[in-house]
Amino acid sequence: MVAHRVRVAGVASSNLVIPILLIIESMKTAQVYQNKIIIKEVDDIQLNGKKGAIVKVLGCGLCGSDIVKFRHKIVQNGAVLGHEIVAEILEINTDTGFKAGDKIVTSHHIPCGECKYCRHGNVSMCEHFKKTNIFPGGFSEKVFVSEEHLKNVAYLVPENITDEEISFYEPLGCCIRAIKRCSLSQGDTALVVGLGSIGLLMSEGLKAFGYKVFGCDLIPERIELAEKMGIKAFNSKNQDEFENIIKSNTENLGVDSVFMTSGADKAINTALEAVRPGGKILVFSSTPLSNGYPNNEIYYKELTVLGSYSPAPKDLQDSFELLTSGKVNVKNLTTIYPLEQIQQAFDDTISNKIFKAYIKIGA
Ligand SMILES: [Zn+2]
Ligand SMILES: [Zn+2]
Repeated sequence: MVAHRVRVAGVASSNLVIPILLIIESMKTAQVYQNKIIIKEVDDIQLNGKKGAIVKVLGCGLCGSDIVKFRHKIVQNGAVLGHEIVAEILEINTDTGFKAGDKIVTSHHIPCGECKYCRHGNVSMCEHFKKTNIFPGGFSEKVFVSEEHLKNVAYLVPENITDEEISFYEPLGCCIRAIKRCSLSQGDTALVVGLGSIGLLMSEGLKAFGYKVFGCDLIPERIELAEKMGIKAFNSKNQDEFENIIKSNTENLGVDSVFMTSGADKAINTALEAVRPGGKILVFSSTPLSNGYPNNEIYYKELTVLGSYSPAPKDLQDSFELLTSGKVNVKNLTTIYPLEQIQQAFDDTISNKIFKAYIKIGA
């Protein structure tokens, strides 16, 4: 329940200030303020005849991009982060089939479909894509979702999946786009470098597409969980195991593709050691600015290095189907935090204490 909170306001009448009671509903949001995330009450958002919906946020996943924006101060004070929302429609005014009471999942950006970028499949570079968003952000009791969002990137959540599981809709969509961009062939091999929540999600996506997946990381708990999920995983520090697994599964050639979900210092070397001549490296993470891909290795080994950023509506549709059909397993990945403990969720994510935080907001 969104609480009703009463605010006292005053009106000035000649020399007198007459206190009156104004019933203004307010809502809680988590806002970035300096090096902290603070809970702040703001005026309730209203539909006011706009096309779209006011939704009650049931929960919102904490994305790696939220962490980057927070740590590197990319957003201003007062910004409300979060975009991986699961929500219930409270009020709606659209030409869609959605109605009040529906539980939905949505992503936050929509491509225009017509610009040069969209026509060439680079939808996440589209200006309209970057401009569109949910308001004020997912870490809020209520959010405005536009009609355009509801028409293009929102889905009704079925009963057979939990809120935490379906909150992987947008991040899995990102992975699916990356996988498609590599255009692999059935049975091809892929190494996922970095087995945090995105690495595990990428691995699950690759498996669902029928590719043979290996994963590596430096953190034992991550390797353990990956193994439990059926991913052949190893510690990248263990050179013998690394060579053994890669060579014995690839006729000594190296893997067809490497998915870089880690931007750690050593990750690029691991990728270059693992990839076969003519193979592909999919860049899915930023690296320190001094770190880059070596020109000559790319040239002499005829490598393809390509990036993938954010999902297109079709990738999101695929993600929704893979999650709701159970073809991608996201169980045991999330740790749930109430909104009041969102700072802890950020801290625990940054210190690698947990895989993925889900901020539970509404009931
Ligand atoms: Zn995300
Ligand atoms: Zn466009």
